[in-house]
Amino acid sequence: MCSVVVDEVDTLRKTTRTVVMSARQENPCATLQQISDEVGVTRERVRQILRDVGLPTAHLVRRYVCLSCGTVLPLRCRKFCNRQCQHNYTHIKVACDYCGTLREYRVKELINHIEKGQKQEHYWCSKRCQGKWLAENHGFSVYPEHALMRWK
Ligand SMILES: [Zn+2]
Ligand SMILES: [Zn+2]
Repeated sequence: MCSVVVDEVDTLRKTTRTVVMSARQENPCATLQQISDEVGVTRERVRQILRDVGLPTAHLVRRYVCLSCGTVLPLRCRKFCNRQCQHNYTHIKVACDYCGTLREYRVKELINHIEKGQKQEHYWCSKRCQGKWLAENHGFSVYPEHALMRWK
């Protein structure tokens, strides 16, 4: 009778141990408290079991790095160190086809254009540059008089 009870307790222990072990292996980021809640034993018991079987008692802290510059971030929820990094990541500088001045475009905007098949072949920093560029590159054949005037 006595040995049966011991056996049962043993089985129960083994089961708890196995469950705690697999909880840790499945989620290295789970805290002792989270495992304890999941398995239904005390936090201290979880710590003991993990120590006994040689699994880490401390949970891994997820590290997030800035998507723009790669700096490790102290907080979990942010993607960028600061506004400047966010700006750099979400904007792209495109050179004006006429004067070469860099103008910033939102990456999303450009992707939108490409997806809608409205990808621009040329970019200009201003309407003025666009006009001048179009006149110089296409204007002559359309308005030959203007081309002649230009060389006077
Ligand atoms: Zn950054
Ligand atoms: Zn320009």
